[in-house]
Amino acid sequence: MRYSAYSIFKQALSGNRLWTPAWREPEPKPHYDVIIVGGGGHGLSTAYYLAKEFGITNVAVVEKGYIGSGNVGRNTTIIRSNYLLEGNNPFYEFSLKLWEGIEKDFNYNAMVSQRGIINLFHSDGQRDEYARRGNGMRMHGVYAELLDREQVRRMMPYLNFDHARFPIMGGLYQKRGGTVRHDAVAWGYARGADQRGVDIIQHCEVTGIRRENGVVTGVETTKGFIGCNKLALAAAGNTTTVGRMADLELPIETHVLQAFVSEGLKPVIDHVITYGAGHFYISQSDKGGLVFGAEIDFYSSYAQRGNLQTVEHTMEEGVSLIPGLSRAKVLRSWGGVMDMSMDGSPIIDRTPVDNLYLNCGWCYGGFKATPASGFCFAHLIARNETHHVSRFMRLDRFERGYTIDEAGKGPQPNLH
Ligand SMILES: Cc1cc2nc3c(=O)[nH]c(=O)nc-3n(C[C@H](O)[C@H](O)[C@H](O)COP(=O)(O)OP(=O)(O)OC[C@H]3O[C@@H](n4cnc5c(N)ncnc54)[C@H](O)[C@@H]3O)c2cc1C
Repeated sequence: MRYSAYSIFKQALSGNRLWTPAWREPEPKPHYDVIIVGGGGHGLSTAYYLAKEFGITNVAVVEKGYIGSGNVGRNTTIIRSNYLLEGNNPFYEFSLKLWEGIEKDFNYNAMVSQRGIINLFHSDGQRDEYARRGNGMRMHGVYAELLDREQVRRMMPYLNFDHARFPIMGGLYQKRGGTVRHDAVAWGYARGADQRGVDIIQHCEVTGIRRENGVVTGVETTKGFIGCNKLALAAAGNTTTVGRMADLELPIETHVLQAFVSEGLKPVIDHVITYGAGHFYISQSDKGGLVFGAEIDFYSSYAQRGNLQTVEHTMEEGVSLIPGLSRAKVLRSWGGVMDMSMDGSPIIDRTPVDNLYLNCGWCYGGFKATPASGFCFAHLIARNETHHVSRFMRLDRFERGYTIDEAGKGPQPNLH
């Protein structure tokens, strides 16, 4: 079924009785060309592009929960391509370009909103660093603007400009950054993949990876054994546990990140804002809730919930940046499990195990990467060749010494 103004009109006349489910609930087949472990954004987009761009449709996405129950449905929905390094910038810009056409592409309203993102800076040193990043972006053909304090004040008068310790001195502005409704992304990709023949198998946990003579032959699951020619892992926060099923010890640690939503307010925050003196970031959803978060919880955990210390810390950062926030009530908060890599950048690569492919290490920032990650991973799986924008995202970069350390924080995953 194609969604359009006409289809809404037709459904209205029929009392909304003609809608069909957005995707099927198939039982697993005995064998697939490709099995993807993880029905998050990356697994679903990989399946979508495998079918759409590379004509590989005998594909199963195996998900232990339901579609959107992982980080793809838990993030704060920010998209951007304001990166400095060559290993990152072209990849995230490719992703942003895919976001710009995504709703037309998969015929689904994902509420893409390019409202602009501003990274605030609070010292001379930080201004220089952001100027460098902006220049790096421009050299990659990505527009960036360095705003001074008065320009920021005109755009966002509600910020605390007179903070004694961290006065706002300006911001790096990417107009094309913004937000996308996260669960609609999962649903849009799921529907698009399903329409092209991909089986999305929910509530089916992968419990083992079967290998013969060094080659993967399939996966053990809670719905029985399913065979495959190629196996692709896109399990985000569970990458390490799934990787161990194939004896892979990966350079990943799992950490919790929390998010918060306030009660619905009239439109007040027009942009996405990040606080340079902390890690706080905020935007306003179309329903009116202020959506915000800050740092990870700092200790390793696989639990999808966080600690109160981080809640307090996040609120302190928020109120110090936007004093008016203290009058809003927080309605909901939740946690997601992040696959933090050693340099804060992702991995899209083959593994030492033949026909086993790996997509992980997305840290805080994998939502914005969803389209490019799926596209590049599908390219790798289909052609056994790395897509040029993901060529730096190799698994062996840690032994070779070619890390992509965007934040310059060294090999400590919880600092990235
Ligand atoms: C609170 C929070 C805020 C964030 N904010 C942003 C943001 O603003 N912008 C941004 O770019 N990124 C953000 N991120 C990061 C982003 O959400 C993730 O990097 C990205 O979603 C990870 O990829 P995914 O969507 O495929 O993960 P997931 O949706 O987690 O998908 C992985 C799936 O694998 C499944 N799985 C795991 N093990 C198994 C198994 N054994 N068998 C079967 N299935 C399995 C899981 O159930 C899960 O559904 C945020 C994350 C969190 C938690």
